[in-house]
Amino acid sequence: MNTEYIKRYGKLPAIADAMQLKETFWENDKLQDAKKALLKMPLSSGDVADAAQRLDRFAPLIMKLFPETACANGRIESPIREVKTYKSNFGDDVPGRFFIKQDSELPVAGSVKARGGIYEVLKITEDLALSAGLIDKGDDYAQLTRTKYREFFSRYTIQAGSTGNLGLSIGISAAALGYRAIIHMSADAKQWKKDLLRQKGAEVREYEADYLEAVRQGREDSAKSKNSFFIDDENSRDLFLGYAVAAERLKAQLEEKCIFIGAEQPLFVYIPCGVGGAPGGITFGLKTLFGNNVHCFFTEPVRSCCMLIGMATGLHNRVSVQDFGIDGKTCADGLAVSRPSSFVGKLMEPLLNGIFTISDGRLVSILRNVYTSEGIFMEPSACAAFAPVVSGKEQLKDYIEKHVYGQKENIIHVFWATGGSLVPEYIRRELLGKTN
Ligand SMILES: *Cc1c(COP(=O)(O)O)cnc(C)c1O
Repeated sequence: MNTEYIKRYGKLPAIADAMQLKETFWENDKLQDAKKALLKMPLSSGDVADAAQRLDRFAPLIMKLFPETACANGRIESPIREVKTYKSNFGDDVPGRFFIKQDSELPVAGSVKARGGIYEVLKITEDLALSAGLIDKGDDYAQLTRTKYREFFSRYTIQAGSTGNLGLSIGISAAALGYRAIIHMSADAKQWKKDLLRQKGAEVREYEADYLEAVRQGREDSAKSKNSFFIDDENSRDLFLGYAVAAERLKAQLEEKCIFIGAEQPLFVYIPCGVGGAPGGITFGLKTLFGNNVHCFFTEPVRSCCMLIGMATGLHNRVSVQDFGIDGKTCADGLAVSRPSSFVGKLMEPLLNGIFTISDGRLVSILRNVYTSEGIFMEPSACAAFAPVVSGKEQLKDYIEKHVYGQKENIIHVFWATGGSLVPEYIRRELLGKTN
């Protein structure tokens, strides 16, 4: 507890709710016109385009290492689906159409982390391979899977700190390329995620402590060795850009369904937030494409609402949920983060529309409701995406009244299902409440 901070910020409505573990909605009062705000940023749409091209160069290699991506020509992408049954069962009073972006089905890593984590491993790989003269940018990168190149990569180590999913994406992709992969995992990490990583050839270091401590240790260990890269979830520009590529992919998928986002058809996107990299990158990408016509919201568990606290106070990574007497514990392991990324929080300051929080008790009922209505399985963290139409429904409706002037029925709502497909069957059954 930090009595100084509590005295200074405890009366802000969102912080007061947060401290009482009450579900809340914080609307960003520092929001600016998207175009103007983007002009002042250290990253641009050109950086996102560069990341997208890099992913395209690696597509032949991805296809070779991960044959499950062959049907998408080596592109790691997930489907989007309209969820009419869920909408009519649970969201009929919210104007607009409901869609789920199924990053829960992303190949290789089964979560949104397959975007950022794998992208950064590929970026490291390209930098190494180009500077060692192994390839040129125009070559077929699939040749990097040959034994002599694997031997080259095996001299390098890639490390990351993780509550689970980032570790899976980095560990699986790095080990597949031949690197030594070391993942530092926090106490929140689920056992099956550790087991899976070891089975895929990564080393797992376990910590009693939380995510921040795992990251700190990993960063320190990595700094000690010469040929080691640490993928830093709290500060990484490359992770962020890998996530941002999702935006143009989403745009193309919507256009395939004859949905064209604009003033007459606004897009509302809801993304679960841990440290902020994934939802921040996706938001950045979407704002570069759609400007003020996309409304982006993060969603967090009430007991680990670090981005809410960082943004509402403006103190970003200088505050933790513990400073406000909140314990940081949640069943949503992918979101169990106590302190937000400063890099992401600052970038989001003029862009993010708001943050919804939700209590753990509701996540499992969302999980079951989406599964029974739509047959889509999500892990508990991903279920937080539905906070705005469950815990925050009245606030969302007010927000729509206040900010959408045209036909409200035209709104396209996208719930970002951030993970799920790798969850083992016995845990799925447990979560779904099946007894036999
Ligand atoms: C990591 C993760 C998030 C949030 O991403 P951050 O970059 O930590 O904000 C959301 N959902 C799932 C399932 C995740 O694994």
